[in-house]
Amino acid sequence: MDYEKFFAERIADLRREGRYRIFADLERQAGSFPMAKNYRDGAVHDVTVWCSNDYLCMGQHPVVIEAMCDALRRCGAGAGGTRNISGTNHYHVLLEEELAGWNRKEAALLFTSGYVANQTALSTLGAQIPGLQIFSDALNHNSMIEGMRQGRSARHVFKHNDVADLDRLLGSVDAALPKLVAFESVYSMDGDIAPMSDICDVAEKHGAMTYCDEVHAVGMYGLTGSGVAERDGVLDRVTVIQGTLAKGIGVVGGYIAASHSLVDFVRSFGPGFIFSSALPPAVAAGALASIRYLKDHNEIRERHQERAATLKRRLAAVGIPVLPSVSHIAPVMVGDATLCKQASDDLLRHYNIYVQPINYPTVPKGTERLRITPTPLHDDAMMDHLVDSFVAVWRNLGLKKAA
Ligand SMILES: *Cc1c(COP(=O)(O)O)cnc(C)c1O
Repeated sequence: MDYEKFFAERIADLRREGRYRIFADLERQAGSFPMAKNYRDGAVHDVTVWCSNDYLCMGQHPVVIEAMCDALRRCGAGAGGTRNISGTNHYHVLLEEELAGWNRKEAALLFTSGYVANQTALSTLGAQIPGLQIFSDALNHNSMIEGMRQGRSARHVFKHNDVADLDRLLGSVDAALPKLVAFESVYSMDGDIAPMSDICDVAEKHGAMTYCDEVHAVGMYGLTGSGVAERDGVLDRVTVIQGTLAKGIGVVGGYIAASHSLVDFVRSFGPGFIFSSALPPAVAAGALASIRYLKDHNEIRERHQERAATLKRRLAAVGIPVLPSVSHIAPVMVGDATLCKQASDDLLRHYNIYVQPINYPTVPKGTERLRITPTPLHDDAMMDHLVDSFVAVWRNLGLKKAA
């Protein structure tokens, strides 16, 4: 086989379909969020980032930076091992205690990313619980799907956010079998939110455990910010809460929070936890500082929601087809891979606005979009510029306006 030719041809296919991924080369500027330097065509440009998952700007918060610098000086760079072999640093212990308390669970467990948390927790439960039946929302994230695949337990996919369909599927399998319902709270591509309380009702009716990925809600929903389960008052009804430390928290890492025995089980049987080195102590210290800050500052969440609602209202008012999402995410539909990339390129080149195009396989073909994530630090002037620029790009490319 001509390996090089094979690779090149497959990449050429992606380019033809308009979905070859090109990274924006950025240099974030602590203290100037959401501004960043963009290295492109041999020059450096100042751009406004409108698609960051550092939703609350905590990645540049002085409290977080100070905590990380302090821990870095005190403990050094790496953790020095897996959690079991010399890698458990006191910051990991403190952070797990904080996460457990925040989610009102008995225990929590850290992973190197939210992806690994999903993959490891779901594959471990699937592989180790005899006969486990997993009921999975049709739009679940790839990390959950990979975890379920690896665990090789039976999987039943229910229609997205459709509680009646979930109820029907749960009722279709032997009542004696162990069951788990896996879903997300905020779905990041459409910005819709699961009916958590209804899902808990149906799961309880069928004796199923529940597993909720709160990745796009952590820090942002609920009075102390632990997620939608807190906001909706169902923390004690969700068996496992999974989250990331990389988005709303602004650092990196992942976690699950659950009962002591479930967490101990994943800690003891989960390969993705056991065989991988622990997060650097400074990372744990930064996440810890970020969470403690966010718990006490609900006004950040209020400002965040106000910014998102304002942007969606303003885009809709000028005919830009923004989905009427109920969350902080503002997806603008383009519906064509090549045009979506062109719109993104034009926004960057002509208006210094950075919004990454979202194409297949992240979203279905024909639903390509520009996914905007306004943060508490995107001010009115930035919003004026964004809305005007979208109107100009929509006109120049002849893109579809809202009906
Ligand atoms: C980003 C994401 C993850 C993975 O989290 P990381 O910490 O970035 O690895 C998991 N689930 C969902 C829904 C995500 O969007």
